[in-house]
Amino acid sequence: MTNLHLSTLHRVALLQDKPPGALLVHEIYRSIQGESTFAGLPCIFVRLAVCDSRCVWCDTPHAFTQGRAYKLEDVVDQVEALSCPLVEITGGEPLLQAEALPLMARLADRGLTVLLETSGAHDITPVDPRVNIIMDLKCPDSGECAGNLWANLDRLKPTDQIKFVNASHRDFDWAAEITRSRQLDQRFNVLLSAVFGEIRLPDLADWLLKSGLQVRLQLQLHKFVWDPQARGV
Ligand code: SF4
Repeated sequence: MTNLHLSTLHRVALLQDKPPGALLVHEIYRSIQGESTFAGLPCIFVRLAVCDSRCVWCDTPHAFTQGRAYKLEDVVDQVEALSCPLVEITGGEPLLQAEALPLMARLADRGLTVLLETSGAHDITPVDPRVNIIMDLKCPDSGECAGNLWANLDRLKPTDQIKFVNASHRDFDWAAEITRSRQLDQRFNVLLSAVFGEIRLPDLADWLLKSGLQVRLQLQLHKFVWDPQARGV
């Protein structure tokens, strides 16, 4: 077994103690959607625990090791109690838990608009087609670029979204090349954002305008509304 496999096993070890059929949930809360074409809308977030990636700029490391086991129906009840037509399943990495799939289907069955934020390192084939997928393609400076599962690009729907989080000009050049060579901007909504505090938004805007790409510059809206370090918003 390689060191990589060993470190991945260590990262997901918390899931081994999860009761069968349950979901390990870090937090459920209502806030403003901040990072997609749904940005600005009130949204319920179901943040699942545990991630097998370790992006160097990750802003939710608390989800790596903290979670509580919930029955699926209890998660659905909590979401319904928060009374909002938009719900996002995020993490951590939601697709590490097979129970996330029936959870999304049940929420869609109740007429909710369901978003899934995933790292792009896991096969999205089994995700209910009613779900709007927001897939992070990891740029080089995340440290997790090797985990991108390129076959997922042929599984996304035209209504799904691809997000590039940029920490440097090198990341932007990489994202622009991937977008051009795979015609992502003609197939999906493509979103460009900056690692908060790492690059200046005017610089990212300038690079985008010079690139000629028709992709969307986006802010991490919640970090402008609230304290950038705040949790549960
Ligand atoms: S995939 Fe998401 S949750 Fe996992 S380390 Fe990267 S940013 Fe953090």
